[in-house]
Amino acid sequence: MKKYWRCHVCSDVHYGVNPPELCPTCKVLNAFVEISSAEAEKICGIAETTMDEVEFCDAIERFTVGNKFQINPDKNRVKTLLEGIFQNEKNYGMKYCPCRLTTKKFEEDLKLVCPCNFRIHDTYKDKEDGECWCGLFIRR
Ligand code: SF4
Ligand SMILES: [Zn+2]
Repeated sequence: MKKYWRCHVCSDVHYGVNPPELCPTCKVLNAFVEISSAEAEKICGIAETTMDEVEFCDAIERFTVGNKFQINPDKNRVKTLLEGIFQNEKNYGMKYCPCRLTTKKFEEDLKLVCPCNFRIHDTYKDKEDGECWCGLFIRR
């Protein structure tokens, strides 16, 4: 079961089955202690912040750094996909993949939040010019 964890040194919050061994922020070893969701919510100030398209693009751009894929240079394609992603967020509360259907089971549908784990897609893996299912990300 996933739980919340707080770094007792820098108060970074982690959500997961296990905490990271090394705090990614302060680099202290074995620094995480379990906390309640109420504490996590306070620390993170989870008060309905949203991300507009520009912020989302910046975030996924940073996500590609150090990875073998990039955002598709085809700007029109990206624009269309972003419209779908943001439409899904508006309708269903999450940035679900614009080209696949959700199951309405939250845990299951987390696999469809963009960026998904597209490295396992047939359209990506073992391909020189591989791309995610929708082509938002392509190999460098
Ligand atoms: S297939 Fe591409 S566009 Fe769809 S969720 Fe995955 S990364 Fe995003
Ligand atoms: Zn820390």
